[in-house]
Amino acid sequence: KLITEYSEQEASDTAQQLRETLNQWSSDYYTKDNPEVEDHVYDEKYRDLQDLEAAFPSIVTPDSITQRVGGEVLSGFTKVHHDIPMLSMGDVFSKDELVEFDNRIQKNVGYPVPYNVELKIDGLAISLVYENGKLVQGSTRGDGTIGEDITKNLKTITSIPQTLTKPVSIEVRGECYMPKQAFADLNKQQEERGEAVFANPRNAAAGSLRQLDTKVTKARNLDTFIYTISTFGDLQVTTQHDAINVLAELGFNTNPTQRVCQNLDEVWQFIDEYQDQRDRLAYGIDGIVLKVNELDLQNQLGHTVKVPRWEIAYKFPPEEALTVIRQIEWTV
Ligand code: NAD
Repeated sequence: KLITEYSEQEASDTAQQLRETLNQWSSDYYTKDNPEVEDHVYDEKYRDLQDLEAAFPSIVTPDSITQRVGGEVLSGFTKVHHDIPMLSMGDVFSKDELVEFDNRIQKNVGYPVPYNVELKIDGLAISLVYENGKLVQGSTRGDGTIGEDITKNLKTITSIPQTLTKPVSIEVRGECYMPKQAFADLNKQQEERGEAVFANPRNAAAGSLRQLDTKVTKARNLDTFIYTISTFGDLQVTTQHDAINVLAELGFNTNPTQRVCQNLDEVWQFIDEYQDQRDRLAYGIDGIVLKVNELDLQNQLGHTVKVPRWEIAYKFPPEEALTVIRQIEWTV
């Protein structure tokens, strides 16, 4: 049935059913780190709910999954309050939708703007707080406002500097992920021990980080790419592209593929390149991210209750199951 043929009551009932399904899948994914369905199945249902709510704004409920960041805090961890919320990200699945995003930005800003284009790393978001160059706190995103304190676990990851190259007081954010090789090794070990294998590297990374025993995290060979400075301290930075370069200078692991694109043709070029190279990367990616490059413009554009207006993820079409790890040389 087409959305235009729904009565308001039918739309409301259908939306409620979709929310229940999505809430259940979210809980399996975020809380148990054990997804019931593949991401593209979740994404399609989520899109159905978004379309329905857009057609019938009166049926939107404040607790709808479209109005809040998915994720919950596990008991057993101290809670951390994110003064600057850790948001989710809007996503698109076609080039036409990317054109719509670009049109929206141009309409808001008044002129075409360059984007910093980055790989969308398939892991989970982390926040790291440094005081005078020393790591003092690390946490998960949680529900966006309250995350889990996982400082001890994050300190076992060798790519996270405990001391920066400058004594700055900043908060940074990035992605913690499990490299493909570490994932293959872990699942092999799990099989040998007769234990359950992990569905994918993203869930293996999330499960490995949220361990009460730090030794388990340490043995899991997690890695990071840091991509955001959320509190700048004394740092003078005006663009997202420079922010990543500054992060590298401070000692963080940053992804070397970021590129400033002046227009969507250059963005398509980036997408085509990395869709081709995706299998050969040493880590999983599920798309690319476009970010308005000027930080002042990012602030001007702001965010909705759930997502920043200045960035969007272009998600790649679903990949074949990752269970067969190909014997090829992965590049970093
Ligand atoms: P998201 O994962 O689609 O996008 C936001 C996240 O992208 C950020 O929090 C950050 O962690 C990450 N990211 C990676 N590279 C980045 C970069 N270069 N710059 C900025 N951020 C980067 O959004 P979400 O709200 O965390 O999760 C929603 C997605 O999770 C859904 O689209 C779905 O695919 C998946 N999901 C799946 C299930 C399931 O059952 N399979 C359930 C719930 C959610």
